[in-house]
Amino acid sequence: MNKMADRYWIIFFVVYSCLVRVLDASAGDADPLYRDCVGQCEKTGCVGERCFLHCKFSSDSSSLDGPWYMQEPLYLQWKQWDCQSDCRYHCMLDREKERAELGHGPFKYHGKWPFRRLYGFQEPVSVGLSALNLAMHFHGWLSFFILLYYKLPLKPDKRPCYDYTGLWHIYGFLSMNSWFWSAVFHSRDVDLTEKLDYSSAVALLGYSLLLAIVRSFSVRNEAARVMVAAPLVAFTTTHILYLNNYKMDYGWNMKVCVVMGVTQLLVWAMWAGVTRHPSRWKLWSVVVGGGLAMLLEIYDFPPYEGLVDAHALWHATTIPLTYVWWSFIKDDVEYRTSSLLKKVK
Ligand SMILES: [Zn+2]
Repeated sequence: MNKMADRYWIIFFVVYSCLVRVLDASAGDADPLYRDCVGQCEKTGCVGERCFLHCKFSSDSSSLDGPWYMQEPLYLQWKQWDCQSDCRYHCMLDREKERAELGHGPFKYHGKWPFRRLYGFQEPVSVGLSALNLAMHFHGWLSFFILLYYKLPLKPDKRPCYDYTGLWHIYGFLSMNSWFWSAVFHSRDVDLTEKLDYSSAVALLGYSLLLAIVRSFSVRNEAARVMVAAPLVAFTTTHILYLNNYKMDYGWNMKVCVVMGVTQLLVWAMWAGVTRHPSRWKLWSVVVGGGLAMLLEIYDFPPYEGLVDAHALWHATTIPLTYVWWSFIKDDVEYRTSSLLKKVK
């Protein structure tokens, strides 16, 4: 076990040191030529020869700042968002073309690689894969629900014997919520969808870490659960508020997410190392698979043919992992329920 733990600490630090190199992730939108192009386009509605209809909105565009209830009606905002997204897209394509002619590799813009649009979808591959992930979570959660309430014996008060029921219900909801916004965000990248996607992903990560600690340390006492939850919920909420209201800092967010993700994997790995849970091999496969998948998210490469990038592949790997994960959760339900029933007898 000790050797195992050492190995994990080594992986932990390797991942941390790699992080330092991804910090300059969004170089494209810092490029002054790109910024000029977007600024010009938002004023004139044109990039070079190409002009966009959406960019003709009301002259009073200063009302974009200020609280939401003081802003323009929603449809005008949509027009503005359309304009911004068209400007960004075409400025990016122009800049990337120029850069490619000079022999430079692609840059990231607003946290994302330059993608080609397909039928109006910005990243069609990621959209499809997010939808599949959502479906997998729904399937997993539904079979978990059926197992709990229809297949296994219930307590006299009609509640399941399993003591982590509520926690996994919330987990299922947060996962589906996060994949839903991921699909929306990958189809249309505007400020609102970006904030919704990032916020729900951070909420899911923070909550999963909480769940990892509560389950692997078998925290069953309410007061102890609150002690674990309070700092994690406080930190996650603060981070979400920071991203939404102060600064959408991709580098910092990446750090926070990787630290929460790696810590969670370490907690599960250590539990898998010591527990005598009959399905610990499922836990191991999710930990190892999740770790490898995370490497894709860290060493991300630009999209092949403007369509498939590391992020899309990462969304593909989470589909089988989700299946194994819910299968582990269901095994845990059966295992805990049967050991509780044995105790009662
Ligand atoms: Zn995504």
